[in-house]
Amino acid sequence: MSATSNSDSWIGDPRLGSDLSNQAQPVLLPCSVPGYEYQLDPYIGCGHQCLYCYALCRQNGGWMNEVRSYTNLSGRLADQVSQLDPQPIYMGWHCDPYQPIEAQRCQTRESLQVLLDAGFSACILTKSDLVVRDIDLLSPMAEVSVGISLGFSDDSLRCLFELGTPPNSSRIAALRTLKEAGIVTYALICPIMPFLTDIPMLLKSLHGSVDSVWLYPISIQQEAGRNWQNIWGIINERYPDLTTNFRNAVFHSDHEYWQKQRTLMEELAKKSDVELLVNF
Ligand code: SF4
Repeated sequence: MSATSNSDSWIGDPRLGSDLSNQAQPVLLPCSVPGYEYQLDPYIGCGHQCLYCYALCRQNGGWMNEVRSYTNLSGRLADQVSQLDPQPIYMGWHCDPYQPIEAQRCQTRESLQVLLDAGFSACILTKSDLVVRDIDLLSPMAEVSVGISLGFSDDSLRCLFELGTPPNSSRIAALRTLKEAGIVTYALICPIMPFLTDIPMLLKSLHGSVDSVWLYPISIQQEAGRNWQNIWGIINERYPDLTTNFRNAVFHSDHEYWQKQRTLMEELAKKSDVELLVNF
């Protein structure tokens, strides 16, 4: 499915939008991830264009087609970290730090340089293999970790739901490279799409590339949300036999699909040499 065949006509090639130029605005923000006091998002908006993205319900249409950045991000970050004790900073909770625009703009790389110079570390979460570009900055950090998320075991399925992400094989190769460089790695199997995400296949393909695997189901807050409307359109068009079961599983955590997956994960965990953290 191409971007233009989707009913969301606002989805297009993302461009770099206006800078967030209020120099008084902090760039490090409180982090809700356990174990991290602060998070950093070098960009606002995301060119990975995942049609299931949580942000589509909270933003006014521009999340995917206009990516915003901070004026003087590295200077503002340096000012903030100079007032803090060195600690790991979470990057990737709200917005992907290695989305396509980073290849030219390098806001994430510049931020990592500031963190490294100040004795801080980074915990990265991304969908992109571009993160391997910055191994030289990540490796020396004391408490560094990198996670890459994957939701699908085959790329034809991925391309239906993620219009701008790198192939799965590139992401898995990146995890392996990072692990070989001595960096703690983890995979997020997320979002698990009921009946579509082949969890055992993904676990098999990740073998030897990660220290742990976290598993999260697709999370949809409301049927009226733009992300659900995107997904529902694809399921109806491509998988009409799945519609009822898919919808029931998405909105009911006690659906037998999840019960079966839990049992399967318990069995796989006994044989796995990586930690499996199941969140469904
Ligand atoms: S990578 Fe994350 S933030 Fe970016 S569009 Fe996909 S789900 Fe949204």
